[in-house]
Amino acid sequence: MSVLNVSRLKVSYPSRDGVFDVVRGLSFELDEADSLGIAGESGSGKSQTALAIMGLLPDNARVSGSIRLDGQELLGESEQDLDRLRGKSLAMVFQDPLSALNPYMTVGRQIGEVLELHQGMSAKEAARRSCELLQMTGIDEPGRRSKAYPHQFSGGQRQRILIAMALACGPRLLIADEPTTALDVTVQKKILELLRSLCQEIGTALILISHDLAVLSGMCRNLMIMYAGMEMERGLSEQVLLQATHPYTAALLRTLEDLHGGAGPLSVIPGEPPDMRNPPGGCPFHPRCTEVMPHCSEVIPRPRPVKRIAGAQSQWVACHLEPEQ
Ligand code: SF4
Repeated sequence: MSVLNVSRLKVSYPSRDGVFDVVRGLSFELDEADSLGIAGESGSGKSQTALAIMGLLPDNARVSGSIRLDGQELLGESEQDLDRLRGKSLAMVFQDPLSALNPYMTVGRQIGEVLELHQGMSAKEAARRSCELLQMTGIDEPGRRSKAYPHQFSGGQRQRILIAMALACGPRLLIADEPTTALDVTVQKKILELLRSLCQEIGTALILISHDLAVLSGMCRNLMIMYAGMEMERGLSEQVLLQATHPYTAALLRTLEDLHGGAGPLSVIPGEPPDMRNPPGGCPFHPRCTEVMPHCSEVIPRPRPVKRIAGAQSQWVACHLEPEQ
């Protein structure tokens, strides 16, 4: 059953030169306990999509389309109703754990507040459950450590605390936006594994955002590649990696292969990501695409189903090279 259903999502901002779109007609679904990795270069619309789902976009953002959580439409909900959902059914883990935690409150109290607010627990029950959650996320001596302040923990431990807080109420959906970018590489893998295993245990659907395709493919069952606010390719991670169909996905993978042991010079994708105030017409990737055809600069390719596994539609690609199957 679908936990999250995003349909024709569009996010725009007004500017002196008119309104410009940063997310352009995005549609996807996510099932219970399933996982989706969203990859793309800076400015591809990954984080704007996450913030739109959480209802955390700035006041001047204009959002249209539909975002449904367990069938409930989130767009147009009051701030009060969204506050009730955030922390309970919807949770997010941010890149910088220090700025996401209150420096003046013990970590046990911060987790406890979430439980009191959304689960109606007494202060005593919440304190006990906070210790259990800290232990679950690998914090030693949780009874003692729950009384410590955020600055008394390492970066990796702070991210574990944020994960404990995010999963405290067993949310239906957790979004983690570059959750390990600020951490040491040796800690990154452990934190991501923790995130994945806890989500699976609780049955929480996970959206993981990163520019690192290797990390995403190892963590998530499904993968979506975004460019210029649009979906370029989406499917089962294994299939997207092994049979990348979109020229942009293929170019991203070439840079990855070279970084991880290629013998020749490093591949780079020629050109720059587009300025979203004035994006190229037609396929947004056409100025950088090695396969570009004359009509690519005129007609926007829409995501189409291609390749099926045992009768199931498993891959969507937005490129004029791909005939629908
Ligand atoms: Fe390249 Fe054209 Fe496909 Fe865009 S639509 S990725 S420009 S071939």
